[in-house]
Amino acid sequence: MICVSIGRGRHRHVIAEHRHLTEQGIKLVELRLDYIQGTVQLQRLLKDRPGPVIVTCRRSADGGKWEHSEEQRMVLLRTAIVEGADYVDLEDDVAAKVPRYGATKRIISHHDFAKTPADLTHLHRRMVEMDADIVKIATMANHPLDNLRMLELVQSSRVPTVGVCMGEIGVPTRILTGRAGAPFTYATFNEDRVLAPGQIGWQQMRDVYRYDTLTRATKIYGVVADPVAHSLSPVVHNAALAAAGIDAVYLPFRVPAEQIDEFLSHARRWPLAGLSVTIPHKEAVLKHSNRHDDLVKWIGAANTLSFGADGIAAFNSDATAAIESLEATLAEQESQAAPGGFGVKTAIVLGAGGAARAVAFALRQRGVEVTVASRTLERARKISGDVNCKAVDWAHRYRVPYDCIVNATPVGMHPNVNETPYDKQHLKSYMVVFDTVYNPENTLLVKEARSIGCKIVTGVDMFVRQAAIQHRIWHGVEPPTDVMREALKQATASAKQRG
Ligand code: NAP
Repeated sequence: MICVSIGRGRHRHVIAEHRHLTEQGIKLVELRLDYIQGTVQLQRLLKDRPGPVIVTCRRSADGGKWEHSEEQRMVLLRTAIVEGADYVDLEDDVAAKVPRYGATKRIISHHDFAKTPADLTHLHRRMVEMDADIVKIATMANHPLDNLRMLELVQSSRVPTVGVCMGEIGVPTRILTGRAGAPFTYATFNEDRVLAPGQIGWQQMRDVYRYDTLTRATKIYGVVADPVAHSLSPVVHNAALAAAGIDAVYLPFRVPAEQIDEFLSHARRWPLAGLSVTIPHKEAVLKHSNRHDDLVKWIGAANTLSFGADGIAAFNSDATAAIESLEATLAEQESQAAPGGFGVKTAIVLGAGGAARAVAFALRQRGVEVTVASRTLERARKISGDVNCKAVDWAHRYRVPYDCIVNATPVGMHPNVNETPYDKQHLKSYMVVFDTVYNPENTLLVKEARSIGCKIVTGVDMFVRQAAIQHRIWHGVEPPTDVMREALKQATASAKQRG
């Protein structure tokens, strides 16, 4: 079950949001009394409530907004019990002061905004003894393994326990706590108005992660990156899983560079079935895999891991996706390619990171003469040595014209949408312009190239193709690419709206 936290300053807004959520099928809400401005009118909130509520009034020390005295807070919580609130949330240090009364259930809660304590089991045992109907523990995750300790606690508890980790690293626990046995998870009414670090919106929880359908049998996939909050991979892969009717969920795992080895060493504890890998882990993951496809070997980086009984297999779907995107677009746009040939003879790849390496490799495989231009010339030189192409300094990218310009830098990516890595004055109408940036699809480079008649390949096409290859690797079935493309377009459009 998803419990939506409502934190509004005015009673009428709280009531309206509760009604709306009930109409949308939400069966439990948390009324955050500490958000209400002025005197709290409990009866007004509880009298005609459309569904069960948890009454919570958080002090600032626990992440709340309560500005009045502790005595007034205690009176409010006791009154909520007398008024027959369905649940009341009592912090573990005050729970003993508020006795059980009537049918109101007691949620004993503990918050730690700095860390996830080393001894969670001891903390939990102490809270269970406080006449708890439900134990709630919310702690800051500083390490991906904090998630695992929290989920294992929830799973082993005999008293219903909602265990979540806060912050971007802790997001997986919010989505998996029910799978581990928690009676509910917390989500926010509006994803732009979070009440605790790392909280996600209820619609995302219900529609993207399909929280209520997750069981112990549900397989766990995800993207491992740092940062990960803006990744659109969860939207695209979860849409594909839902459309294909596969019992699996795809999560955002924020894993800092120095913690990737430990994260992968504990993969079986989740257990992880597959991962997309992105910045900064594409090379570091290789030492954990015992099988590579040829592309991984040649490119020296993986963007896909598949976990099996016989170890971890590594793949690189970027190179194949890049070349498929180019070929499909050129075929569609009636390229001058000779039958069986490839319309592009010379190409410049802007950037020298993982994407540039994959694209340069793929183009070389098709016999294209490739030049890599990079701010850090050393990185371009490394690629040129590995895939047998040229390397030039960033400032020299306009020296000669090329048939194909590939942007493999983040220049032009949201929110820096007014930037381009290649000035319009140097574009020629015969060029193929391939921008790997997918958010937005129509970057400034794409718009300027289109305006002078260049052939265009977009990052959206490449992104959907690389995700589709991953889907095939993990699930062994043809992916619903139209659904994936649509999910990506909707997600980039709503990211644009939110600014
Ligand atoms: P990466 O390994 O971090 O490499 C980024 C490259 O861009 C580096 O060479 C970096 O140069 C260069 N760069 C960054 N900012 C720059 C600037 N302002 N001016 C000039 N060069 C700059 O990242 P990656 O994994 O290769 O990804 C690069 C981009 O490719 C991403 O932003 C993403 O949009 C795109 N991508 C798309 C797909 C897809 O499916 N569509 C897949 C993968 C990647 P330095 O080394 O000097 O920092």
